[in-house]
Amino acid sequence: MITVVDRVAVSTVDAAGTEHAYGHVVVNGDTIRSVGAGPAPAQTGPHTYVDGSGCLLTPGLVNTHHHLYQWATRGFAQDATLFEWLTELYPVWRGLDAGITHAAASAGLARLAVTGCTTAADHHYVFPSEGGDQFDALVGAGGRIGIRLHAVRGSMDRGQSHGGLPPDNLVEDTEAALVATEKAIEDHHDPARSSLIRVAVGPCSPFSVSPELMTGAAELARRKGVRLHTHLAETVDEEEQCQAENGCTPTEYAERLGWLGDDVWLAHTVHLSGDAVKRLGATGTGSAHCPTSNGRLGTGTAPVRDLLDAGAPVGLGVDGAASNEDGGLVAELRQSVVQARQRGGPKAMTFRQALWMATMGGARCLGREDEIGSIEPGKLADLALWRLDGVDHAGITDPVAALVFGPQPPLRLLLVGGRTVVADGELRTAPADDLARELTAASAKLIEVSK
Ligand SMILES: [Zn+2]
Repeated sequence: MITVVDRVAVSTVDAAGTEHAYGHVVVNGDTIRSVGAGPAPAQTGPHTYVDGSGCLLTPGLVNTHHHLYQWATRGFAQDATLFEWLTELYPVWRGLDAGITHAAASAGLARLAVTGCTTAADHHYVFPSEGGDQFDALVGAGGRIGIRLHAVRGSMDRGQSHGGLPPDNLVEDTEAALVATEKAIEDHHDPARSSLIRVAVGPCSPFSVSPELMTGAAELARRKGVRLHTHLAETVDEEEQCQAENGCTPTEYAERLGWLGDDVWLAHTVHLSGDAVKRLGATGTGSAHCPTSNGRLGTGTAPVRDLLDAGAPVGLGVDGAASNEDGGLVAELRQSVVQARQRGGPKAMTFRQALWMATMGGARCLGREDEIGSIEPGKLADLALWRLDGVDHAGITDPVAALVFGPQPPLRLLLVGGRTVVADGELRTAPADDLARELTAASAKLIEVSK
């Protein structure tokens, strides 16, 4: 089936930064056939025609870090440090089960979709022993909403009795975690070009995971040909603990355990020395930059300008909704610019660099730069069509500025592999009323069981 988006401003985010003030895109099935300036070539066969006048077409946005289950636990620990916040929330998450995770993940993915997101990474690391198959529930939510999911099978094996932060009853046995992670890859990972579900390996963080699990996870991921993800260098508390326990920085610790490389992307990377920035760049290690979450938890501002200059892939992430109640990706475009400029002045980040991070930068973090992240012939047709003709944006001189720094525009159309997931601002793959009803029940159940 052919779809034509015509008479539209196009920001392709290709390597040359090509933009068309008045252009077109033609989609054939799940793939972009052509993109160019001026009106679309006439189509002879059956096709769907979209008049994009007054709109901006961008690649679908890529979210590189999330904890979708947290959609059921928003609003907690509002004025806490990361360690205080985790300590308050671990006992609540102890009540997670497959049904709650499915409802929370479905709602969280729906929120991402209506903010222009076509690919999302989710890091799920809380597996209470009586919680059922939560990973299966997460994967099912991805299929239900219809955006591409990179489901990271997380893990924690370092409870408080071993110097970790989580309670002992919330961590897994090291070997059991590795076995379950391998099973998750075998059950769900699809390496195909047009894949809607890929699995990655993700022990949670140095303060909740043993070095044995970190090295075992790296070995497993490389044996299976999947990617690696963890939290790193998020707070000063983490840095101090790492120095006390290991005599090195979190980045040095990660390198010692085999956790730097172009098959790794790290969440946060806020506290990095100049040498650490260089190591991430030299090794091609990616960063999932989560500016709103960093702001809510007051952890600091990540050295994103320096990372980009060092050649490191940087994508944007919303992080879990318990530390970012918005859960939408457009807000992170603005936040990334604001935080970079607070660190380095008005030239530290352009609006277009923010859009690059939210698209191609994210695609690089997830190892999909040949498949998604830009509007180019042969790539998957993951596209977001934004309306800029309403009172919020009409007359603005630059459509990219309107998207990055204006109010979130109405999302007229979201295509994932050519399939409509959002139209006229509404999710078309699942009834929003059902998602809200399920989420309300899931949140109430979680709070009830944690009392
Ligand atoms: Zn996180």
